[in-house]
Amino acid sequence: MDETKTPEAGRDFIRDIIAADLESGRVKRVVTRFPPEPNGYLHIGHAKSICLNFGVAREFGGICHLRFDDTNPTREEQEYIDAIEADVRWLGFDWGTHLYHASDYFEQLYAWAEHLIGHGLAYVDDQSPEEMRTARGTLTEPGRDSPYRERSIAENLDLFRRMRAGEFPDGARVLRAKIDMASGNMNLRDPVLYRILHRSHPRTGDTWCIYPTYDFAHGQSDAIEGVTHSICTLEFEDHRPLYDWLIEHLPIGEQLGPSRPRQYEFARLNLAYTVLSKRFLTRLVQEGRVSGWDDPRMPTIAGLRRRGVPAAAIRDFARRVGVARANSLVDIAIFEHAVRDELNRTAPRRMAVLRPLKLVIENYPEGRSETLAAANHPDDPAAGTREVPFGRELYIERDDFMENAPNNFYRLTPGREVRLRYAYLVTCREAVKDAAGNVVELHCTYDPATRGGNAPDGRRVRGTIHWVSAAHAVPAEVRLYDPLFTRPDPGAGSDLVADLNPDSLTVLHDCRLEPALADAAVEQAVQCERLGYFARDPDSARGRLVFNRTIGLRDSWAKAKAGG
Ligand code: ATP
Ligand code: MG
Repeated sequence: MDETKTPEAGRDFIRDIIAADLESGRVKRVVTRFPPEPNGYLHIGHAKSICLNFGVAREFGGICHLRFDDTNPTREEQEYIDAIEADVRWLGFDWGTHLYHASDYFEQLYAWAEHLIGHGLAYVDDQSPEEMRTARGTLTEPGRDSPYRERSIAENLDLFRRMRAGEFPDGARVLRAKIDMASGNMNLRDPVLYRILHRSHPRTGDTWCIYPTYDFAHGQSDAIEGVTHSICTLEFEDHRPLYDWLIEHLPIGEQLGPSRPRQYEFARLNLAYTVLSKRFLTRLVQEGRVSGWDDPRMPTIAGLRRRGVPAAAIRDFARRVGVARANSLVDIAIFEHAVRDELNRTAPRRMAVLRPLKLVIENYPEGRSETLAAANHPDDPAAGTREVPFGRELYIERDDFMENAPNNFYRLTPGREVRLRYAYLVTCREAVKDAAGNVVELHCTYDPATRGGNAPDGRRVRGTIHWVSAAHAVPAEVRLYDPLFTRPDPGAGSDLVADLNPDSLTVLHDCRLEPALADAAVEQAVQCERLGYFARDPDSARGRLVFNRTIGLRDSWAKAKAGG
């Protein structure tokens, strides 16, 4: 992890602000936080936020907290908490001892709510949710004061304590800040601070039946933790005045003075052909439209990891996308370039055949076999070589043979010579067919003088194809993936589900891999020559290898787009 150690001047406006704050002395040490709500798995949009928050903390010698924003017990689960921690670590970041939960602060937040009531800055409202909605007004129309707005401090305190004591059912009352029902900013129209929810919480159990809202918990949690830069996505821009109002009107604001936390907003990641909404991803999982949160088609960190995408590629992608103030849609090709660049550098080379066609070398002695040295990485001699077994019967890729081939087809066709990668030159003599006329086997001859793939007489052979030895290859299931959606802007036309790609998964049951792949580590991508990058799936069991194609070798999107 050396790619994000030093800040780059002018790299983005967040880093500029932080550099200036350190320079002016407003803050002594940068403290950021990544604040997921544990109601789903993290996705690549979250990765952008993680790389930013943990990245700037590291670059500026500060710290980044992991804080679970666990204020809504109706949707939060331990499974998500565990997955989020694992995913942040896998991405290469570490919060050290700084693991926090908004629920750690429930008692303090409650005390602050009473403080606001005591200063005439909050009141208990008995209006129904529907009444509150209509009284809130619109962007062009001011709201109306609640009939309960002028309750006495004593009455408010009494009611709020009874809310906490569990005297009222869900939705009967809320605590609201008393700010301004005519404010041009809807978030300042007496926002709700507490709601009644008779629900057990994963961490606080049945201690509470009232829970703070995001707005009341977030800024105060930042203040308690000494967060200096509270970086969030643009949709919270209109919440910033409330964020500031709350800190100013609570005792902690005075205490912290100029070093109090400040909120900064950046554009969320939007990725073409991808949906980054936890609500929708939850739906895909619940409706069984994918195999789970870690289905390799999912844009989740867990899905990308299972697919074989390295953490470094995700970090590099976040760097390439950058941090800006304006929303935009990022082309999926930018992501794929980051993945290919990383894998091209790091993935060992192997050979595999996805759609096997038997090739018999008639003049290769029966029962004989040999091993050939194959480079593990063409650009990295230090990666060494491996031994690949070779024999009389091989498998090659079905589409590397064509019976009536045009002149520019340099692979196998009767009478043509090709190079078997790392092995020999072979010439196709005959295609054997079954009763239905399908080619089932190729008969070839090889030139024993061409071991390693070079002709001593220098004759020209244009085509090189990959192969595996039939006697030694290991069978495997290979899963190929296409985008989960058929359009770059899923859901723009109708329901998102209507835009799901019915062909996003193709399973090939009868693939053959070179023996070295039997020992491949789960989720560590290799390049299968000419086919793309593949990673062993955790579904693999004894005697049953499963691989996922991480990504093809070239930009398949360009093709898809051109083809409509
Ligand atoms: P929801 O609020 O619907 O549960 P969320 O995606 O906002 O979904 P959070 O757990 O609140 O989920 O997100 C944690 C952090 O990640 C927040 O600071 C949020 O701003 C950030 N984040 C979420 N989605 C993106 C995205 N697409 N791009 C960048 N940052 C994101
Ligand atoms: Mg959120």
